[in-house]
Amino acid sequence: MEGELLRILIAPDPLLRRKARPVGPGDADVVRDLVPRMLATMYRAPGIGLAAPQVGVGLRLTVIDLQREDRREPVVLINPEIVSASAETEVREEGCLSLPDQYADVARPRAVTVRYLGPDGVRRTIEAEGLMARCLLHEIDHLDGVLFIDHISSLRRNMILRRLAKAQKEKAQA
Ligand code: ZN
Repeated sequence: MEGELLRILIAPDPLLRRKARPVGPGDADVVRDLVPRMLATMYRAPGIGLAAPQVGVGLRLTVIDLQREDRREPVVLINPEIVSASAETEVREEGCLSLPDQYADVARPRAVTVRYLGPDGVRRTIEAEGLMARCLLHEIDHLDGVLFIDHISSLRRNMILRRLAKAQKEKAQA
């Protein structure tokens, strides 16, 4: 199982800042191979969402699962698009597997509607609010090279990036 796990890129890796391209028919094999590995990597981390750019793959693909271990309910979103977002926002503490142990309060729309393709190629629409809406917006941001720290003040962002660099350096020396 270990071999199937993917390495999660850590900020400020430049690959996290690249805009991912849409998944096309020619990517079917890659997606079929990647989805179970992304899910396994996310569960192992553990996290509730993982986008392909976070594992160095520049495709518009993300996986989300808000459920507990005993009742997994993975959502696989290919080429997700935000159809609408509520004007009403909500502030909540957010983190990211690419910025381990760093958290900040982030304001995001309280509700969103997202259109996407399922892994079976079927077009779907999801209407979400609260944590699921936040997670969808966070993961779709990744596909555009955007991180949650881009939604906070530059002062706080730089503080987080400095703290992260220090922690990574200590980890490398340990
Ligand atoms: Zn993230």
